[in-house]
Amino acid sequence: MLLDALGGASDGEPASREQVERVHERGYVDALASLDRETWLDGDTIAGPTSFEAALLAAGCAVAAVEAGGFALVRPPGHHALPDRAMGFCLVDNVAVAAGHAQAALGLERIAIVDWDVHHGNGTEAIVRDDDDVLYVSLHQWPFYPGTGGPGTSDDTTLNIPLAAGAGDAQYVAAFSELVEPTVRAFDPDLVLVSAGFDAHEQDPLAHMTVTERGFEELARRSAQLGPRFAAVLEGGYNLATLPRLVEAAIRGFDGA
Ligand SMILES: [Zn+2]
Repeated sequence: MLLDALGGASDGEPASREQVERVHERGYVDALASLDRETWLDGDTIAGPTSFEAALLAAGCAVAAVEAGGFALVRPPGHHALPDRAMGFCLVDNVAVAAGHAQAALGLERIAIVDWDVHHGNGTEAIVRDDDDVLYVSLHQWPFYPGTGGPGTSDDTTLNIPLAAGAGDAQYVAAFSELVEPTVRAFDPDLVLVSAGFDAHEQDPLAHMTVTERGFEELARRSAQLGPRFAAVLEGGYNLATLPRLVEAAIRGFDGA
């Protein structure tokens, strides 16, 4: 349904073990690769024999998106995946793999990740927290799953913006103007990566925010203006009836920037 709504899409190649192991521990990657039956990896995350291949394809699409300046429309999402374990529907942290590839293979030194999925991207934050060349910015409902990213958790290269349930376009745009944009511009990134979740939408069943289709278009437009290079990776968004038009709205915003 989502892909039907789009023109100009292309298939991706799976990420390599080397690309994935830049951000995940080898033992964890081995465990994913060897799953031979349906297994609950955490309370929300079921995986089976084909899951590793799907996760590698998603991460590989994120890599391709960085190379081409595109939008990786992938599942499973990635931003809760920790270095050594799966969490919250996420197996491999796609945006972190993309950032690692940009640094190691494309010579892009400073990377800003802007995560507007309604949930805090605790996995991405954990992976990049000690890398001063990666700025992680997240806007998220708080208090809410996964519980991280609350007040007082920012540092020089981490900007967590917890927002109360019910926040909509006005609060998100204000947070961009007052916090996201000045912080990312001061960081002066070579590349901006967006973790584009759509579960802050007013009709999403998993969360309680009120961002509209026009709001996502505006967030996309503003995000794409924050650096000389830009790519995006799909994260959450769980209303399958609205997701295609929200993705289309974001693409309009990215293209219009
Ligand atoms: Zn989410």
